[in-house]
Amino acid sequence: MLIKTYDLDIFTPPCEPGAERYSAIARLATNISEVLPYLNATLRGAIYHEAANALTWKKGGHNIAFHAFEIATSNIVDRDAAIKELDGLVQLVNRTWERRAELIPSYQKRQRPAPMDVYQLLPKTNCKQCSEETCYIFALKLSTGQRQLADCPPLLEPDFADKRQQLKEIVNDMPAIG
Ligand code: SF4
Repeated sequence: MLIKTYDLDIFTPPCEPGAERYSAIARLATNISEVLPYLNATLRGAIYHEAANALTWKKGGHNIAFHAFEIATSNIVDRDAAIKELDGLVQLVNRTWERRAELIPSYQKRQRPAPMDVYQLLPKTNCKQCSEETCYIFALKLSTGQRQLADCPPLLEPDFADKRQQLKEIVNDMPAIG
């Protein structure tokens, strides 16, 4: 196990005293730098900054950052949720580290596709079958890895085969989270 213990710091952002959303940081005794390229290889939508030794990732509306000695997350509803969220992230790091022999680390810094480019390839019918209000909102979430192509049923229709393939090349070239 890579991370055995950590100290937890939960706070409201200094620029927003009294804010209802929390940020939280797990301060680690262990350096997790070596696991970052493996997370980069497996987390859909993650962005790895090798020079800064950091990896950022969006998940469920939270902005998450992994650094050598800390894991930070934001936009958490309450303290219990912050504890649970960071525990899940620590477990993710440990699981990824344990699986490293079967993974190929990636040092590539990926660029997120522009939401408008993604939108242009969607059906643009705003049918809401994906549970989003509009195709553009779906495009925003698809470009940051919060939704997947399979969440848009109309894309499975034969008429959209070409566009689905193009979308796959720009947003779905990374494996989904294991
Ligand atoms: S299911 Fe697809 S076509 Fe329908 S609103 Fe969502 S993104 Fe648009």
